[in-house]
Amino acid sequence: MTSWKLRCAKCGFVWVLKVSYNISDMDKIYHYCPKCKKNTFHEILERLD
Ligand SMILES: [Zn+2]
Repeated sequence: MTSWKLRCAKCGFVWVLKVSYNISDMDKIYHYCPKCKKNTFHEILERLD
C-alpha cells in the first residue's frame, strides 16, 4: 500500500489516500471526498511512504 496526500479541488480539504496501485503518473484523480461527501477531482500533492 502506498499513501498519497490529496487535496480536493472543490473544498481544499487535504487528506491521505491509501491505494495498492501507483497514481503518480496521474495529474488529477477523481475520488470520493470525505468532506464534500461526493466524488470530486483531487490534486496529488505528494507521496508518503
Ligand atoms: Zn472536497
